[in-house]
Amino acid sequence: MSDAAPLPPSADAVATLPLAGVLGWPIAHSRSPALHGHWLARYGIAGHYVPLTVAPDHLAQVLRTLPLAGFVGVNVTIPHKEAVLALADVVTDRAALIGAANTLIFRPDGRIHADNTDGYGFLANLRQHAPDWHPEIEPAAVIGAGGAARAVVASLIEAGVPELRIANRTRIRAEQIKAEFGAKIVVYDWAQLGNMLDGAGTVVNATSAGMAGRPALRLPMEALAPGTLVTDLVYNPLVTPFLEEAAARGAVTVDGLGMLLHQAAPGFERWFGQRPEVDEAARAAVLA
Ligand code: NAP
Repeated sequence: MSDAAPLPPSADAVATLPLAGVLGWPIAHSRSPALHGHWLARYGIAGHYVPLTVAPDHLAQVLRTLPLAGFVGVNVTIPHKEAVLALADVVTDRAALIGAANTLIFRPDGRIHADNTDGYGFLANLRQHAPDWHPEIEPAAVIGAGGAARAVVASLIEAGVPELRIANRTRIRAEQIKAEFGAKIVVYDWAQLGNMLDGAGTVVNATSAGMAGRPALRLPMEALAPGTLVTDLVYNPLVTPFLEEAAARGAVTVDGLGMLLHQAAPGFERWFGQRPEVDEAARAAVLA
């Protein structure tokens, strides 16, 4: 009998368990682990998706270390969405245009690939819940000019809107979007918010106003035509005061939860090799 210690297995002999997660600061509120956990269980995939609390000062170090521990990628959320662009090796055109990434893929060659799937999630949600929506016919009106609004603007332009009206409480941020996204953008003053709705076929709240515990978004809706597609990126509560009033005026309303579900699907597919279904069960998993 030998008393030599057993040799550790070679790296090749160790089966890796795919890991993914969401990086934020703070992160406890995130519903992403519930969603990805639901999909992993549903497809019988032996992997895990975990919340990762990462301070801004540690972001670069954590991103270089995670692949060594079996992570195949991560989602990133506030406050890291912009900072990751400088840390990634490959940035997609749309993430560069939006100026933020929410999905990172750790490639086998060690390179970090950054993408932004918020705009995809936004459009996929509307196509799923308002199949008769035709964005290319009438102008769209976007309220807000933060990171989420930039993704919405990029996707609406891609969807072919003839004109994109935008207003933001801090006007300069809307002007900046016009400077970057071009001729289709028309900036409205915050005091003229109600006028933006005149003749619009699509209206989007991309501000955080209306979130639980925060003041509602207040705007005169007299100019809103029945049948207009109205959506809110805020999904807590699911029916915001803004959506409630739009529905009372005959608008077709779509809540923001579906965007959260759809934006998650491309990352899950890249990391775990299965395109997940965005259905009632996924919605219920996030709401549970
Ligand atoms: P952000 O970059 O911090 O931008 C916040 C935006 O909201 C800015 O335009 C800001 O205007 C505006 N705002 C904040 N409080 C306001 C108030 N009381 N009245 C009017 N405008 C106000 O945030 P973000 O990442 O763009 O996110 C915006 C919202 O979208 C958040 O509620 C977020 O949870 C939601 N979101 C949802 C999804 C989804 O999947 N459904 C995805 C991404 C984001 P100023 O520039 O004047 O400050």
